[in-house]
Amino acid sequence: MTLLTRRTFLSSLAGACATAVIPSYGLATAKRPGSRLDRLVPLIDPVVDLHNPHTGDTLTTRFHGPTGYDPDAVALINYLMRDWREASIVQMDVRLFWALAVIRQAAMKDGHSGLIHLNSGYRTKKTNDHLRSLGYHTAPSSMHIKAQANDIVVEGAKVADIAKFVEWLQVGGTGHYRGSFVHMDSGPIRQWSE
Ligand SMILES: [Zn+2]
Repeated sequence: MTLLTRRTFLSSLAGACATAVIPSYGLATAKRPGSRLDRLVPLIDPVVDLHNPHTGDTLTTRFHGPTGYDPDAVALINYLMRDWREASIVQMDVRLFWALAVIRQAAMKDGHSGLIHLNSGYRTKKTNDHLRSLGYHTAPSSMHIKAQANDIVVEGAKVADIAKFVEWLQVGGTGHYRGSFVHMDSGPIRQWSE
């Protein structure tokens, strides 16, 4: 496992992702007024505890403080959520970060560690097409391509319970992939299961 820290981050960037272009998706889409997630935002500790099983990266960081978003923390999360196949990093929709922080706290309340395994974050179109060609369920215009989706597993928690919780949170879209993972995105509110 590679523990991502501010110190190791720049050297990681210089290595695997030296040629990555980082387009700016902005930090503006976090809000969906009236949603349960938005109502919880002022009440929670904005910390994520993440593990990417494909790269081995782990990261625990507080991404927001009294002066707003912490750019170093945000960059580390974007890095952990990168398209590792294409070494491509983009600004993820920060709504996902808030959702992950709420899920972490809820999991800890239930006696779990709060660690969240990120199976998939950002995907280039190339990677998305590749995965579809292998038979994975990926929509041609997947929210992963728009940097607005995460596929997650919460350490110790049942996938079905997390799917229900994400749906309740009103993050956006919730996909329950039975027994394997939960897809959540910051697009329109909708649900499905497979
Ligand atoms: Zn997904």
